[in-house]
Amino acid sequence: MRTLLIAGNWKMNMGPKETADFFAQLDDAAQKEITGVEAAVCPPFASLSSAFSSRKAGSAVKIGAQNVHFEDNGAYTGEISTTMLNELGCDFVILGHSERREYFSEDDAIINKKVKKALADGITPIVCVGEVLSERKENRHFDVVKEQIAGSLAGLSEADVKKIVIAYEPVWAIGTGETASPEQAQEMHAFIRKELVGLVGQSTADTVRILYGGSMKPGNADELLRQPDVDGGLIGGASLKPSDFSQLVSIAAGQE
Ligand code: PEP
Repeated sequence: MRTLLIAGNWKMNMGPKETADFFAQLDDAAQKEITGVEAAVCPPFASLSSAFSSRKAGSAVKIGAQNVHFEDNGAYTGEISTTMLNELGCDFVILGHSERREYFSEDDAIINKKVKKALADGITPIVCVGEVLSERKENRHFDVVKEQIAGSLAGLSEADVKKIVIAYEPVWAIGTGETASPEQAQEMHAFIRKELVGLVGQSTADTVRILYGGSMKPGNADELLRQPDVDGGLIGGASLKPSDFSQLVSIAAGQE
């Protein structure tokens, strides 16, 4: 019912040349012959043009950005607009990543503006939510995620919610090698879907893809992706290696 999405978040890694090398090394199975799964990579802004020009002809790998501003254009030094991302051909934009929340002071209100802007301009937002370790230890993880969902999706219509992708990324599992167990992931994904049901009703909530992110790699992806409410992965470290990315795409394709 929901097509799995494997999306790579390259963060501040992979310049234009490394990006070209990535696509040169990525095998056809993960690039041209993908069936039953959607794949995307999100390079840094400086490497987006390289990604578009070095993707093989006929490649099914989509390309996204890691952030965008909520205004059309103007005096916002260092920022990038949806118009620019559209001109390049970006399909996705990652919004609300925990690193943006922590190091760039993005809160749910800012993320909400960005989500609305991306949707208005036809770019699919991948909206990230997730608790830090202390919040999980204090058993507050459901409350934290509930608030992030409510804040970042505030004011969206049912039609808008249908278009978004959510990524549940427990912050304690990002780049740490520690992964949420399949049961922990499923529990939170089911909770997020229940929150969506409250916002937009069951039939729309059932269409929204909820990705898991946090040290997903070929060795643990299968079990995570088997969970009924885990609809793909947002992958940092493992998405930088063409062979790992390729394996992740084929593991997801095998879940059909
Ligand atoms: C991420 O930052 O979105 C992420 C999931 O990173 P990693 O896979 O490296 O934990």
